Parts: sequence; C-alpha cells; structure tokens
Amino acid sequence: MVRSITFLEAGYTEQFEKIVNPVTGRWRKIRFPSTVALIEHPREGYLLFDAGYSGRFHEVTRRFPEKLYAWVTPVTVSPETSAVGRLKALGIAESEVSQVLLSHFHADHIGGAGDFSRARYVASRREYDYLSGLGSVRQVKHGFLKALLPESFETRTRWVDEFPVPLRELGEGWYGSDLLGDGSIFLVPLPGHTLGQMGLFVPSVRDVDYFLVADAAWLTPSFREGIAPMRVTDLIFHDPSSYRSTLSRIHSLDCAKRDAGRLRILTCHCEVAMEKERSHAL
Ligand SMILES: [Zn+2]
Repeated sequence: MVRSITFLEAGYTEQFEKIVNPVTGRWRKIRFPSTVALIEHPREGYLLFDAGYSGRFHEVTRRFPEKLYAWVTPVTVSPETSAVGRLKALGIAESEVSQVLLSHFHADHIGGAGDFSRARYVASRREYDYLSGLGSVRQVKHGFLKALLPESFETRTRWVDEFPVPLRELGEGWYGSDLLGDGSIFLVPLPGHTLGQMGLFVPSVRDVDYFLVADAAWLTPSFREGIAPMRVTDLIFHDPSSYRSTLSRIHSLDCAKRDAGRLRILTCHCEVAMEKERSHAL
C-alpha cells in the first residue's frame, strides 16, 4: 500500500468565494492553491497527482492567444513554489518522480508536468485528443495550454482509457481502475468538469482512505453541503449537468461515510482543507 501522501501547493490564483460557493461564500477574493499530491509507493517510488503551475506558465502566456488565460486567471508561482521547487525543499530530485498522473488538462493541473524529465504520464486519451483537435483560441477557452506539456508527452503517456485492468468496485456504487495492480491507487472517473476528468482513491494510508476529487468540487463546502457553483461557471465546464451529478454523488458519499471518519475527500483548490492536511502531517 501507499506509504504516505504529502500535499504541496504549486502556485495559486485568486477568485471570488461567492462565485464558487453562492450559499455561504462571500464577495471576497480567496486563494485557490493548485495542489499537487506527492505519493510514496514502496515499489514505484514517488508519484504525483497533478503538477500545479510552474514558471513555464509565465513563458507560455507571453503570447496570444495564451495571454488571454493569464488575464482571466492571474497566477502567482515562482521556482521555489512550483512542484519541483517544493520537492527540492523536501530533498527529492525531479528525476526521482516515476509517474505524473494528470486529473485533467486544465493549465493549473498540467503547468509543472514538463519539469519531470524521467516521469511517465497517466492521462485521458479521449480528453487529450478532443482538446488537441481544437483551434488554438478554443483550446485556451477550454483552459488548455498545450505548450505547457513537454514535446515527448504523447510517447511518455499511458492512457487511462486503454488500461487493460477492469474497473473494480470501491463501494457505495463507485468504481476505479487499479493503477499499479496492487490495490494501492485507483483512478476514478469524475466526468463533467472536463470530458475525461479522473480522481484518485488511495486506501489505507495510516488508517485514512483518501479520495482526491480534483475539480469535481472546488471547495470543501461544495461537496459537504452539496453546493454547486454559480451558473456562470457552466461556461468552463465540458458538461454542466454531468458536473452537477458527479458533485451530487460525491456529496452522497460524504454523507454516508462522514461519521465513520475514515474517508477523507479532498478537492484540489481548497486552501482551508489543505492547510488542515499540512497541520496533520506535522
Ligand atoms: Zn479544472
């Protein structure tokens, strides 16, 4: 089983809380960290779930149409606060990362992917092919900045849609693909936010089962209270009604499991939850 999970903040952006939580949120700007999960596996070594932002974002968004993304979503990240910088501070070299699992292809999840010279990637072929087939302006509209990915991306990627392993039942009507074949990490489809978004279910890490839901919910209250974001955000979703049904399923799972206290559901961008995780680790 997985030895440990450590959550790293790899850059952040700011947005109005009310837009993502119209019920209990306020009209104030809050930080949305891009969280990277560092997973230590006894056989595979270090794996990352998502790659956050890195300095490459600022290079890529100097030109049009990519510049439009940076206007709408101003990003703060430095070499020290990117995933590779955070790892270095922990004494881990970028070359020690064996796999980078990408939940989906939005820029805040793939930004640092090119910083890992020896890693294999795991991603959705359906989503990648769909986005790659769009013109450059439409790609930016979908939050996809292809230049963030390394040139060798396609040859280094294991496509989740082509996994030979069947889906395994995880309970409460959820299914996942057994990534390493040892029952330690499962890729779980979370459609709606994008075409092929996937989360990660990592059971039994020091008596905690982690379910990392990426952007299927943005903040903890979103799934805890079942609060969908304002309708204006539908503009960036691949399929708004499927997004809402995925969110509602996560809400039901949380309701069913909350009292037992073993399952920890975490979104990628909830600063409050991530600070709590970091304090658990101390
Ligand atoms: Zn996203």
